[in-house]
Amino acid sequence: MLNSAAVQRPPWVVGNWKMNGGLSDNEALLSGLLGLLEAHGGGRIAQCAVAVPAPYLFQSMVRLSGHSIGWGGQDVSAEPAGAFTGEVSVSMLRDFEAQFSIVGHSERRTRHAETDAVIAAKAVALADSGLVPLICVGESIQVRDSGKAVESVCQQVQRVAQALQSKALLGKAVFAYEPIWAIGTGRSATPEQAQEMHAAIRRTLSEIDAKAAAQIRLLYGGSVKAASAAALAAQPDVDGALVGGASLEAKEFFDIACAMSGQ
Ligand code: PEP
Repeated sequence: MLNSAAVQRPPWVVGNWKMNGGLSDNEALLSGLLGLLEAHGGGRIAQCAVAVPAPYLFQSMVRLSGHSIGWGGQDVSAEPAGAFTGEVSVSMLRDFEAQFSIVGHSERRTRHAETDAVIAAKAVALADSGLVPLICVGESIQVRDSGKAVESVCQQVQRVAQALQSKALLGKAVFAYEPIWAIGTGRSATPEQAQEMHAAIRRTLSEIDAKAAAQIRLLYGGSVKAASAAALAAQPDVDGALVGGASLEAKEFFDIACAMSGQ
């Protein structure tokens, strides 16, 4: 196994807007964020991106092209086209120059009964088209209390990672560990809990492809705030954050990105 600490993994901080926003609110949020980044004057800061509702991909492309903030989707279909009412395809994301999409968020696993097989197919469709699949995994509070959190999360990782590896696409993936009990609850995992799980995820990935495992970024998500970001970022296997609620405030999101780069 490669020494993962020796490999450079530039931190990535992604804002998940979920089903929030509107044209004028988005404009205020993005211009606030761009203003803060410009005022920062090129100092060290984590790469930032926003995962926006599909109707706002065009606005994101127009507003963010040529700037340092990336944009992507919150979900995607595994199907290329056809009779799939309400779905968004990878090529539609590409039309708006999205660089990535979240897949497997716990809100979709729970509310839309998405299985690891469905999530794997979505991840493969994205990676196959050159987009980054940002794959969410995590455990419920019941699973954590039963002592099976690591086993459950690593099984989720393994199923998706094997599907990617079968097409030689594993190296394109980013995983986000999002304990379900920490999402939107204000109760973040401790840095030690995050590190324990991230190390287990990296071990699982290294059993599939050691070289890819050392390079794949593992984000933490679940009530991340500026105040908690630096301690999370100090963990050797935490390579950034997936941020929900706090990404809707430009200054808070900016401060998280600064903290994630060690500023
Ligand atoms: C999320 O939904 O991906 C998330 C991490 O939300 P929050 O930061 O609000 O817990």
